[in-house]
Amino acid sequence: MAGTLYLCATPIGNLQDMTPRVIETLGSVDLIAAEDTRNSVKLLHHFEIHTPMTSYHEYNKVEKAGLLVGRLLKGENIALITDAGTPAISDPGEVLVRMCQENQITVTSLPGPCACITALTLSGLSARRFCFEGFLPSEKKDRRVILEELAGETRTIVLYEAPHHLVKTLGDLREWLGDRKITLCRELTKKFESVMPVTIGQALEYYRTQEPRGEYVLVVEGKSLQELRQEAIASWEALSIEEHMAYYEEQGMDNKTAMKQVAKDRGVGKREIYAHLHG
Ligand code: SAM
Repeated sequence: MAGTLYLCATPIGNLQDMTPRVIETLGSVDLIAAEDTRNSVKLLHHFEIHTPMTSYHEYNKVEKAGLLVGRLLKGENIALITDAGTPAISDPGEVLVRMCQENQITVTSLPGPCACITALTLSGLSARRFCFEGFLPSEKKDRRVILEELAGETRTIVLYEAPHHLVKTLGDLREWLGDRKITLCRELTKKFESVMPVTIGQALEYYRTQEPRGEYVLVVEGKSLQELRQEAIASWEALSIEEHMAYYEEQGMDNKTAMKQVAKDRGVGKREIYAHLHG
């Protein structure tokens, strides 16, 4: 019978966030696949876990996932840990999960620390609707496509960023999204945890004199519905009332319903549209 793959969340900066279930599982599986074995040695040492470890990272993920699946199929149980946080969130974990699913291997996830959720809860921005973008692509063309998409996003946006790319990313966000609210979260769960709720422009100003340090999660306010509505009105206003009417009538709306819809889109009364057309 095939073994099980256990996705084990590990601390993002505070060893006390290790859950008892993860400690027990790491101690009882046959093998631990770790993103950075040098880092994970310290973690395992701290919790007196002596399970053998192998590396599983971005640069060997496809061939190594194949080897791990082979061992799982032979009945071994394997735990996956990444550098920090929840496996498969902005790290190579998802490749292994998919390959396990394709081979009917049971995968289970042991929840725990995750930088995205920790930052979102601290951001003070709407946590009711959010989207997680992870790292922005570094390649210019891909980055532009994503930034363009994010510019119209109404949900709160969560991004990951390394310190040496922070200022460039803040600059791009201001250019594409405007001067929105942003909460910069760094060193989460660590001694010098900091949460900075500012605007993108204020953050850029701050980092003109301060060197970014530590790992960052950026939580950015989504586009407001009011802004969206204003943009929609502006785009309707680019049409004449006759063109606007024709747009709906060509879609099969009768004259009266089209007039009602045109009035609504333009934020005016029905009479005004009628008077324009028949006056
Ligand atoms: N799987 C991880 C998780 O659950 O969040 C994320 C892995 S991703 C490779 C690493 C990124 O997460 C960092 O570059 C940073 O943006 C964010 N991160 C991780 N730990 C953090 C911390 N303690 N404070 C702020 N950001 C952190």
